[in-house]
Amino acid sequence: MIKAENVKKVFGTVTVLEDVNLTVNPGEVVTILGSSGSGKSTLIRCINGLEKLDGGRITVDEFDVAKPKELAEARKRSGTVFQLFNLYPHMTAVQNITLAPIEVLKRPRAEAEQEARDLLASVGLGDRADAFPSQLSGGQRQRVGICRALAMKPRYLLLDEVTSALDPEMTAEVLNILAKLAAEGTTMVFVTHEIEFARQISDRIVFLEKGKLVVDLPTERFFAEDGGLANPRVAQFLSKMR
Ligand code: ATP
Ligand code: MG
Repeated sequence: MIKAENVKKVFGTVTVLEDVNLTVNPGEVVTILGSSGSGKSTLIRCINGLEKLDGGRITVDEFDVAKPKELAEARKRSGTVFQLFNLYPHMTAVQNITLAPIEVLKRPRAEAEQEARDLLASVGLGDRADAFPSQLSGGQRQRVGICRALAMKPRYLLLDEVTSALDPEMTAEVLNILAKLAAEGTTMVFVTHEIEFARQISDRIVFLEKGKLVVDLPTERFFAEDGGLANPRVAQFLSKMR
């Protein structure tokens, strides 16, 4: 379980997250919606331990991300994929995917490589395993990025706008992979502007507004009621997105 309790994050004099409470149970797909600047990426970065909290607590399973001794364990459990493909340009797809399993999990190279090839095949990239990032399309790179996260066998997958730098066709390729992962029961925290897709795969939708998590509802209710009892901010947000 990922649990955020009363989370606060401040940059300089600006409070970016305030009193955020969020629980993600194993097997759930939770989508975070909210306007630009509402704090979605910051929340993902806090869960991953990339940002220090200024208040409250985040645990991944029982591991507290604020405790240096527990952070490594928390991070192993939550694989993260970001908007921009952070692949190493001088490494092939397989090398990018096997780096952390070999270095961090101390997996034997041959085993790690076989798994990487199997993962690439599962996302339709079986024949691109030895290509360098510059030889791949954006959608292909992002699929490699997803494989790289999955290679660590995380319990939770955190996805921050993984399709927003892609054209519609490449977006569809990546969303298909995520739909498959969701159907297999992968726990996901998903930040996206793909509202219709979020509606199809999410169990719950939460809505951030200026750093406060103002709505947390089952997906059907979120859309049926524009964020619950016709929350005017959610209604406005959804009308802009449609
Ligand atoms: P978008 O939809 O545009 O990606 P977001 O909801 O992900 O937006 P965040 O990136 O979490 O928003 O940013 C929330 C607020 O925190 C913004 O006002 C942003 O300018 C500010 N912010 C984010 N990172 C930093 C930083 N490192 N230093 C200072 N301010 C920051
Ligand atoms: Mg963001």
